[in-house]
Amino acid sequence: MSDEPATVLGALQFLAAEGFAVSFSLGPDGFRCGACGTAHVLESVEVVRVFRFEGPSDPEEEAVVYAARCPFCEAGGTLVSSFGPGADPELADRLVLLETRFEGR
Ligand SMILES: [Zn+2]
Repeated sequence: MSDEPATVLGALQFLAAEGFAVSFSLGPDGFRCGACGTAHVLESVEVVRVFRFEGPSDPEEEAVVYAARCPFCEAGGTLVSSFGPGADPELADRLVLLETRFEGR
């Protein structure tokens, strides 16, 4: 698609317009929904879109935007994460799991 957003901010605006307006976060207790406040195991989260951005000059700036749906309240939202070499390896593993959820659809 030629109208794919080119920046993280652009992706967030694009997804908010598509109904993915809630903020999700990833923590030790799993995938936390900003709408209902519930944490979920990643296996239960439905990943709808993935946007990947390369840092223009610095690989540390690499970022991924996930559009997902909360399995509890069904709110659509986004999770933004850096995926560069500086990322926490445990967190990176969780993000790979999210990507698998997307690619396995
Ligand atoms: Zn929720």
